[in-house]
Amino acid sequence: DLQIDQVTKTFGDTQVLKGISLDIADGEFVSLVGPSGCGKSTLLRIIAGLEGQTSGAIRIHGQDVSGIRAADRNLSMVFQSYALYPHLTVAENISVPLKMRQLSAVQRLPVIGPFLPGSRDKNVEIAAAVKHAAQTLEIDKLLDRKPGQLSGGQRQRVALGRALVREPAAFLLDEPLSNLDAKLRVQTRAEIAELHRRIGATFVYVTHDQVEAMTMSSRIAVMMDGEILQCDAPDEVYHNPLDIRVAEFIGSPK
Ligand code: ATP
Ligand code: MG
Repeated sequence: DLQIDQVTKTFGDTQVLKGISLDIADGEFVSLVGPSGCGKSTLLRIIAGLEGQTSGAIRIHGQDVSGIRAADRNLSMVFQSYALYPHLTVAENISVPLKMRQLSAVQRLPVIGPFLPGSRDKNVEIAAAVKHAAQTLEIDKLLDRKPGQLSGGQRQRVALGRALVREPAAFLLDEPLSNLDAKLRVQTRAEIAELHRRIGATFVYVTHDQVEAMTMSSRIAVMMDGEILQCDAPDEVYHNPLDIRVAEFIGSPK
C-alpha cells in the first residue's frame, strides 16, 4: 500500500497541507479533486519525492521513503505539461527513466560491473522495454519522431509511455488530460482506465473534472484548503457527502 501519514507542508508562513492522511491499497485508482490551490499538486509532488514534506511520512509497503530520492521510489509521475525532451525522439524520451535508473545503479556499485551505461545487453533490454510500452499505448509507429511532430494526444501518450516503462508500483498523474480537446480527453480517459485494469498498478489521479473522477476511480478524495474532507467510493461521495463543501464541489443533489 501507499500510506500518507499526517503530511504537512508549509511554504514561507503558509501551511498548504494541514496533516493529510490517506491509505491507498495496491491496485486502487484514487482521484484527488478540489479547487485550484487546495494542494493537490503539492501532495503528489511530495509522494513522488520531488518536494519534501514539512512533517509526516510517506510509506510504500510500510517503508518510510523520506530518504529515498524520486528516481528510486518506483513511482511514475505524469504532468499536465508533458515535459518531453524536444530534441530527443519518442523512443529516447521513453527510455530516459531506464537510462537514469541504470546510471544511479552504477553510482551505487562499489565495483564497476557489467551494467555500464552503453553496455550492449542493457541497451537491448531497454529497447525491448521501450517497444513494449509503445505497443501498449499504440505509439510504436511514432518511435522515431520528435515531440514537435506529434499531436497533443500523442505527446500525452509518450508521457504515459515514459511512466509505464519503469513498471512502477504506482502512477501519479497530475491532470494529464487537461491539455486535450474534449474528444481526445474522453478517448484517453478510457485508455487510462483500460491501462489500469490491464496492469493493476496503483493510480493516484489529480483532476478538476468531476465526471472523470466519478467514472474512473475506486475512491475519490475531496481536498479543500490543504485538508481531505472525505475519501470514499464515487457513489458514496455523491450521495452521502460528509460536508456541505463536498456536496457543493461534487454537485450532489442535497
Ligand atoms: P491547481 O488545481 O490550480 O493545480 P493545486 O491544488 O494543485 O491547484 P498546489 O499547486 O498544490 O495547488 O498549490 C497549493 C498552494 O501552495 C497554492 O496556494 C500555491 O500557491 C502554493 N504553492 C505551491 N508551490 C509553492 C511554492 N513552491 N512556493 C510557495 N507556494 C507554493
Ligand atoms: Mg495542481
